Amino acid sequence: MIDVGPFIDGEELSDGGGEQCDVLNPATGQVIARQSCCDDACVDRIVQSSALAFASDDWRSLAPAARGAILLRLADLVEQKADELAEIELEDVGKPIAQLRGGEIPLTAAIIRFYAGAADKLEGRVKTSEGGHFALTLYEPYGVVAGILPWNYPLVNAAMKVAPALAAGNTIVLKPSIETPLSTLAFARLVIEAGTPKGVVNVVVGSGSKAGNALVSHRAVGKISFTGSTEVGQHIQKLAAEQMKMVNLECGGKNAIVVFDDADLERAANAALISGFVNCGQLCVSCSRLLVQESIRDEFLALLKGKAGKLVVGDPRDEATLIGPMITRSQYETALGYLQTATSEGCQVLCGGGRLELPGPLAGGFWIEPTILGGVKPGMKVHDEEIFGPVLSTVTFRDEAEAVQISNAVEYGLSGSVWTANGQRALRMVRALDTGIVWVNTMLTGYPQIPVPPHKMSGTGVELGMEGLLAYCRRKSAMLGYDDGAPVGWGL
Ligand code: NDP
Repeated sequence: MIDVGPFIDGEELSDGGGEQCDVLNPATGQVIARQSCCDDACVDRIVQSSALAFASDDWRSLAPAARGAILLRLADLVEQKADELAEIELEDVGKPIAQLRGGEIPLTAAIIRFYAGAADKLEGRVKTSEGGHFALTLYEPYGVVAGILPWNYPLVNAAMKVAPALAAGNTIVLKPSIETPLSTLAFARLVIEAGTPKGVVNVVVGSGSKAGNALVSHRAVGKISFTGSTEVGQHIQKLAAEQMKMVNLECGGKNAIVVFDDADLERAANAALISGFVNCGQLCVSCSRLLVQESIRDEFLALLKGKAGKLVVGDPRDEATLIGPMITRSQYETALGYLQTATSEGCQVLCGGGRLELPGPLAGGFWIEPTILGGVKPGMKVHDEEIFGPVLSTVTFRDEAEAVQISNAVEYGLSGSVWTANGQRALRMVRALDTGIVWVNTMLTGYPQIPVPPHKMSGTGVELGMEGLLAYCRRKSAMLGYDDGAPVGWGL
């Protein structure tokens, strides 16, 4: 059991002035840490520190390449401390160790390296305009950014916000979820070890409704980058509108993986399983709606069920484990509630369907069986709403037109995946799906170079890729006159 608190000017405070909250290991339900949350005065102090750091010569005088060099050291440190970070994330989020070592830690380093290399590639634009002027458009940092992190991928999301924010010259205050603060605090310590001036990355801890709200509505915050639910995203957008702040919102998804009858069914089934069940279904871009062409329904579902029988759910410390627990009791109960709804809506449970009882210390964890539902139809709650649990809903379609219609028939628009051997159909599907990214004969690939701009109720703005760097820059134009003979005003 450890005690943690907010992180300011390179140091962790033992007292944030607010309430004390427990941090649980979701695999066991045991308390692993106690955090001292920030009150409003503490949030104010932290934002003021970030504003001072932004104005300081230590930060402002650093050339973009020097900021890139700091980020490169940070990426190296993430790799050097991989075991330590993996242990923290395993305990705090219940992530399977193999997923951390083989996926999230390398991805965190890769995101940081991508933006390290991009720091000195930011270029403005120059135009010659009529009347003896050059017109320049410059990209500048906003100042203090608020980075609100979700609990499903805390470390990766910290990198996704810190790396482009710093590459563009901003300072940033992170607010991890009250459920998962530990890796964010460890990451902030590495940021300092990498040579970042104090105050450039600070961390507010506490609940979203108190500390998070105080952070995003602070006048000295110039830009907000949020990842979480659509409902909270909308709330933050309204707050930001009152102060004319720029926001980036990466919110919910209810994405479709579409399998046509000419697809490589083995590969498509593997894609559907990882998409439905990775991180226990708690990934906004994964596809939890499986759309299967009617003609191959029975064959494909039999294949899928056979493979689902091989999924290993259990102890995150076991190298063979593929799926860990739900993050919190509340998410666990929400997902179980959806399973009851599915039955009352007339869906069939093809596999799984309920809570999972595990022995020993894992008995207190938040475990659910990976579940495949059949007979799902648009309009049902389990089809239309984001469950954010290990539930794959299967829907059948007759032809391409119906596949498009069902795919787009939800309010979200984050991602989609299409499986077909027909190249022209694949291109038509890319055009037709109303989502920020479409994978064709592949699944969950592309980071960190590829931007993912959410469509519809999935959010606004863009993260990742070079466009994700520009999202941390405001624009400024300058007109430079070079013709002494050009008329000025009324020429009086
Ligand atoms: P939330 O949107 O409540 O939480 C996301 C982050 O926002 C957390 O850090 C949270 O803090 C913070 N937050 C909450 N309220 C405010 C506020 N008023 N001002 C500033 N920050 C705030 O998501 P939940 O944790 O409740 O998850 C619910 C649903 O959200 C999931 O079922 C899923 O649909 C979606 N979700 C999507 C994610 C994605 O990757 N796009 C990630 C996580 C969830 P705290 O947790 O401390 O309250």
